[in-house]
Parts: sequence; C-alpha cells; structure tokens
Amino acid sequence: MEVFRRHLHYSRPFVISRGKTEEKDFFFVRLGRGIGEASPYPYYGETVEKIERFLKMAEDLIEEDPFKLEENIKKLEELPLLSTPALSAIDLALHDWLGIELSLPIYRIYGLPKPEPLTSYTISLGSPEEVRKQVEENPQFDVYKVKLGSDRDIEVIRSIRKVTDKRIRVDFNAKWDRENAIRIIEKILPFGIELVEQPVPRDDIRGLQYIRERIDITLIADESVLRPEDIKRVYGAVDGINVKLLKCGGIRRALQMIYTAKSLGMKVMLGCMVETSLSVGAALHLAGLVDYVDLDGFLYIENDPFDAVVLKNGRVKPTDLPGIGVKRNPFR
Ligand code: MG
Repeated sequence: MEVFRRHLHYSRPFVISRGKTEEKDFFFVRLGRGIGEASPYPYYGETVEKIERFLKMAEDLIEEDPFKLEENIKKLEELPLLSTPALSAIDLALHDWLGIELSLPIYRIYGLPKPEPLTSYTISLGSPEEVRKQVEENPQFDVYKVKLGSDRDIEVIRSIRKVTDKRIRVDFNAKWDRENAIRIIEKILPFGIELVEQPVPRDDIRGLQYIRERIDITLIADESVLRPEDIKRVYGAVDGINVKLLKCGGIRRALQMIYTAKSLGMKVMLGCMVETSLSVGAALHLAGLVDYVDLDGFLYIENDPFDAVVLKNGRVKPTDLPGIGVKRNPFR
C-alpha cells in the first residue's frame, strides 16, 4: 500500500451555506493494481490528520488481496477510530484492483445495469444574478441542484426560472430552522421544485419530520445521514437519503445503505463532495440502483488527474475500462 498526498485547486469556487472552498488536500491510495481516493471534510470531523492516522493503522492490518475485500473492510470497521474517507479510499482501491484482475468494470461485477444517468449540475450559492449566470453558462445539463441558504433564496429561484424550465432541486445544507425552512419552501414551490435537501440542522430530525408533515415535496436528508446505521434515525422523517462514498466509507457500505433504504421504501440519491473523477466515477457504478444522481463533483477539480468519467449531454458514464475505469493514473 502506498499513499500519495496532493493539493488540488478547484476550477471555480464551491459555495454553500456553510462557506466557500477553492482547494483542498487529497490522498490517493495505491493497493496492488488498484487506486482509491480520500479527502478531508472537517464539518464531519474528517481532518487530514485523522485520515493519515487511519491509513497508517490500516496499512498494518489489511491483506493485500482484492479477493479479500469483505474481510479487509470488516477488519477496518472494527478499528476504534473510523475515518470514512480513508476507509473509502481503501474500499475503492480494492474494488478497482478486483475489477482489473477480472477485466470487468465494477458495475458488471455486481451485475448492475450500465450506468449512464442524467446528473444534476450544482449551482453554487450566490446572488440571483450570479446564480442565473451559472445556469446560463451550463446549458448542457437537464437538472440543476441549486445551493440555497441566503436571505435571497426566493429571488434566486425566481431569477433561475426566468432562464430555464428544466428540473430544479434545492439544497439548503442545514441552514434554516424549521419555521424559516417552511416559509421559504412554500414560497419557492410554485416555481416548480423537484425535491428539497436538508433544510434544517443535521441533528434536528424532528424538524425534518415537522416539515415533511406540512409540505408535499420530496424531502431528502444529507447531513443527517452519514453511515448505514444512521438510516434508522431518519426513517419516517424524510422521503429519502443522499448516499456519498466519503460519508459512508466506500462502495461496500454505500451498497449497504442503498439496499437498506430501498427495502424501507425510501428514495436514494447518489451524491458526492468535490472529488476527482476517480471517486465520483467509483460511485457512478452504483447509479443503476438509485432514484437521483448528483455526481458532478469532479467538474469542480482543475486538472483532474484521472479522467474516469465521461460527460455527454448532461449524462455521466464510466469509461468501461476495468475496475473504476481510470484512463490515466499518475500513481500506478
Ligand atoms: Mg447536500
């Protein structure tokens, strides 16, 4: 196992209600012939130091054999400190290696349909003018996920509707209390909104339920649901969950979440953070199982090292090379 740390810049600022990011550190983990990715997310307690510590512990523990994926992940899950981005990097590297050994893309190993979903395109938080410009400059997408959580939320949606009749999803990133959330959601609904993501703080599960009981809109939890065991916290309070590899710890645990949510009759969105096409491309293999796809994070990376996702007419698909499907791998 080899770990490479790199600092990557974004092609443009990523702005949500918690703040703006323009660059971050990434860890690329090589295991045998496979490669995986981790990046920090301090809001969830996932710092650079925690990722490094977990990767160090993991190195002594795992068996470098892609056919021991299940055993390896289980062992790592039992460590006293669990870093889900770091676990995801190892899970991805093992899946990538497994696919390369079998000469198959990951979705084929699992017998899943070939993914070619429409992805939503993320519109950063901004003034009504800035937001409208972002939509106008990216006409190739059929769905926009608009970041909200400023005092101009209603104007923002109104200004976007002036230039497009395409689907709009909104994400408040935990910004409002329940009463403000209801007030704003009721005012933007007449503009045609497909779904609402995480209007209230992550621990306010009752707030989610309160909103769901009062407004007829698909309500998705993101910040409130990180790992498989979190689904039972939000069951009944929301219509669906946003599953991300970095939050849960890789493909194996994402599958666990998707199947659990589906068996409970919940909707599933497959999402991502700002990540390279290695990590976004890995998630993409599971797209055939979900209701909503939000896999555009790699578009925010300047000089993506991997080229593992093909974007065409608003759809994303893997390259069909074995494993995750990276075209270039500077760390192999
Ligand atoms: Mg979100």
